[in-house]
Amino acid sequence: MKLAVVGFGNAGGKIADRIVEYETQTERSLCQFTAVVNSARIDLHKLGYVPQRHQILVGQTDERSKGHGAGADPDLGAELTRQDLAEVQRVLDNVPLHDVDAFLVVAGLGGGTGSGGGPVFAEALGERYGEPVYGLGVLPSGDEGGRASLNAARSIRSFVDSTDATIAFDNDAWREGTQSIESGYEQTNVEIAKRVVSLLAPGEYDGSPVSENAMDSSDVKRTLSVGGVATVAYAEASLEEETQRQRGLLGRLRNDGEAGEREGAATKVHGLVRRAARSRLTCPADITSAERALVVVSGPPAELSQKGLVRSRKWLESQIDSVEVLAGDDPRPGADRLRATVLLANATDVPRIDALQEQAVDAQENIDAQAAERDTAISELVTDPDDELEPI
Ligand code: GDP
Repeated sequence: MKLAVVGFGNAGGKIADRIVEYETQTERSLCQFTAVVNSARIDLHKLGYVPQRHQILVGQTDERSKGHGAGADPDLGAELTRQDLAEVQRVLDNVPLHDVDAFLVVAGLGGGTGSGGGPVFAEALGERYGEPVYGLGVLPSGDEGGRASLNAARSIRSFVDSTDATIAFDNDAWREGTQSIESGYEQTNVEIAKRVVSLLAPGEYDGSPVSENAMDSSDVKRTLSVGGVATVAYAEASLEEETQRQRGLLGRLRNDGEAGEREGAATKVHGLVRRAARSRLTCPADITSAERALVVVSGPPAELSQKGLVRSRKWLESQIDSVEVLAGDDPRPGADRLRATVLLANATDVPRIDALQEQAVDAQENIDAQAAERDTAISELVTDPDDELEPI
């Protein structure tokens, strides 16, 4: 698939940057165009891969922001983006539309610029271009507090409404105990980039052999066309590890020559896909609630067993109780690892989103109560007990 990627806000920008970095490192060809949009000038300096001419500052002339961000206020983030939409769209004139299959709008949903501006921009893209617009939305972790939950619970709704489908990533599920927040983010951003590239880059001619069963952009589009929230599963293993593992399982076939090798390759592929589906998803969900799925297995051509792929597809069909499961491969000569990526589209049982909504409702009630009491509380503080003093 050929993508135009736009990162919104601080998290969105950093993740878009990592996607380009990972794509470059792995010699893939995914992003035909990359841009970032932010209301905080300082955040734009952190980027190393998105070209400077595609880094757009919104709200520069707005009194409330002046280039210093949206203060975790998604309504302001949305407004600043609306005000400067023409400028953002001007940069998009550089998108090579004939060479783009879809747009991907990336944002952290717990803040202001990405959570508010991302959906505004996604909607504008949908109105202006015929290609699908996908979202990649990062949910805040529980310990970021009520305000972040409230922002995210509102934003995920807008993202789902304004995109063809939104892939969710849950910071809560990926938080590692000992890391600082920033180094934790760096690590999660690499994990996100790896999954996006492994899932969406296959099927593009980049010099590698084209297989009979290669994944195509139309497969991704078909899978995501059901809309809603999607989540991604991923597992990788060195060929050595996987060979050891399947030998353990299939010891009896060890010396069965070619037939044994074929069976071994099929078992490796199937085993890895099962492992992926049971691993930590980008956003934990009950996989049986997904409506469609897509499996991509990448690795050296000799390891990409068609039998293994068929078995994986059937297994996943039975898991999610749907006949809408596609499976394809992605030959990478010289690769030393097998990788399985599974896209689960329109997952409807996502406990983290339910929890966010609960936290958000509490936070909204708390904010409303504080606002209602604010004037009285200030007045009581600055007024003497018997109101004998005159203000100046
Ligand atoms: P914005 O610039 O106003 O859109 O806000 P930020 O992007 O700074 O933060 C929004 C949310 O994104 C936060 O609440 C965090 O949950 C998350 N976040 C911020 N930076 C990162 C990052 O580098 N990686 C990840 N995975 N999440 C981040």
